[in-house]
Amino acid sequence: DTSRPLNFIERIVEDDLANHVVSEVKTRFPPEPNGYLHLGHAKSIWLNFGLAQRYGGQCNLRMDDTNPVKEDEEYVEAIQTDVQWLGYQWAGQVRYASDYFDQLHAWAVYLIQHGKAFVCDLSAEQMREYRGTLTEPGKNSPYRDRSVEENLALFAKMRAGEFADGACSLRAKIDMSSPNINLRDPVLYRIKHASHHQTGDKWCIYPSYDYAHGQSDAIEGITHSICTLEFEAHRPLYDWCIDNLPVPAKPHQYEFSRLNVNYTVTSKRKLKQLVDEKHVDGWDDPRMPTIAGMRRRGFTPQALRDFCEMAGVTKVDGVVDISMLEHALREDLNALAPRAMCVLHPLKVILTNYPEDQTETLVAPRHPQREDWGNRELHFCRELYIDQDDFRETTNKQYKRLVLGKRVRLRNAYVIEADEAIKDAKGQIIELRARVIADTVGKDPADGIKAKGVIHWVSAREHLDCEVRLYDRLFSDPAPDAGDKNFLDFMNPDSLKILHGCKAERSLAQATLNDRYQFEREGYFILDSRYSSADQPVFNRIIGLKDTWGK
Ligand code: ATP
Ligand code: MG
Ligand code: MG
Repeated sequence: DTSRPLNFIERIVEDDLANHVVSEVKTRFPPEPNGYLHLGHAKSIWLNFGLAQRYGGQCNLRMDDTNPVKEDEEYVEAIQTDVQWLGYQWAGQVRYASDYFDQLHAWAVYLIQHGKAFVCDLSAEQMREYRGTLTEPGKNSPYRDRSVEENLALFAKMRAGEFADGACSLRAKIDMSSPNINLRDPVLYRIKHASHHQTGDKWCIYPSYDYAHGQSDAIEGITHSICTLEFEAHRPLYDWCIDNLPVPAKPHQYEFSRLNVNYTVTSKRKLKQLVDEKHVDGWDDPRMPTIAGMRRRGFTPQALRDFCEMAGVTKVDGVVDISMLEHALREDLNALAPRAMCVLHPLKVILTNYPEDQTETLVAPRHPQREDWGNRELHFCRELYIDQDDFRETTNKQYKRLVLGKRVRLRNAYVIEADEAIKDAKGQIIELRARVIADTVGKDPADGIKAKGVIHWVSAREHLDCEVRLYDRLFSDPAPDAGDKNFLDFMNPDSLKILHGCKAERSLAQATLNDRYQFEREGYFILDSRYSSADQPVFNRIIGLKDTWGK
């Protein structure tokens, strides 16, 4: 949408283009391949790729793969699938921070040669003690004054694998008394004897995020390096590296507030815990706020992009209401989803005055606003199913469905009147006897006694038997991981309901994994890409028709 007001990053970009600070916008989306992407990442993808699209620039996809221990090729692939599904394509090849390890290493040597980096033997714990606090300056490491020659020799040994993990590290020599803790001689390289998913066993030292990121941006010619607000205090270090190295370009970092959504956790670490401890059915469980989960659930990429846009880009931390996402989803689905009928809790109805051997083919529009989509055919006969919730023996005036002795309209079909409820030994209603009121397809009954409401139905002779999965929020608390709360304590026990023996109109036998439907009066549905088969279709409810949370 180009008519809305510009967000603050768009204004920066427009100014930079207008003032020839940059000739072209180049952004990047830099995930670490240590988990699947989630809703928060969708925001960053939308922002970075969206800027490049809007201003005719380019956006790179860069795997920020500096920590081999937690990373995996599975995630590298999932990230690409997710970005493309959201509707974006990166410029050229996928990039990897690890592509730059040789250059990053050469620049580390350059810093040592210029007296701006040193090998430090303090342990991680000692380093913490020396670092000081927000209110107290740090102390210089006793190894800070090693000579250039000694540092070069030690760094070469680090690289050659002569030291154990943690024995020493390479640190920038900046200022231990800086009020910004990130400038108190930050670590540039750590020893990690670990195989890397891209570089194998070539390296046993790995660059820190802070050291690798800005230099990777410079190598790729990124103009606007956008990250979340928690990196604001890292910007002086980002700039220090750029200013002190012979990099080919001078990128700038800009920060915006991360997307937080209520009833949701958006932290890869916590989502991974849900997967590893089997609280959910994998990263793509339809209840997960991962892009893979939302895709399997049936969310549309358009709805996610619209949501990111609605949530806006600011520097103020806040929590966005999940109903905003659900709203965007309903808007999109309402426009694109063909209509169908499916009975979730079937109750058999016998139409006693409808001949046993008669059948009719009724028609109904595929979409009420899309005449060009044409009609679907509905099989009508003496035996039907309606939903158990749509019949009561007696009730009050608010109940606009079928009641004994009263009439209801079957959607796209006849008006019927209920005569008798057949019960089993326990008193459960197992079947209903009713009558068709003649000549009422698209017309009111001639006797002037109108139907009280409209309900959906399916032929009991020709239909598709299916399973339906109803999802609800994974967490029942609006802030499941706030403060010291353990998010696992707030999982919604009713987040998944599996309904067997549902009855769908036969046109749904044609459904493919890409089709989303509105099941009239029930919500929006899609076949489940994991569990559905031609013999046993499984439909996921993407979302209900209305926001009923807490009602
Ligand atoms: P997590 O905390 O879930 O592990 P991360 O920030 O560590 O996320 P990265 O893979 O490093 O994950 O993130 C890639 C990009 O996505 C980064 O630029 C990061 O700032 C951005 N990002 C991650 N989470 C959010 C969020 N909630 N809102 C907006 N952007 C986000
Ligand atoms: Mg990260
Ligand atoms: Mg993180």
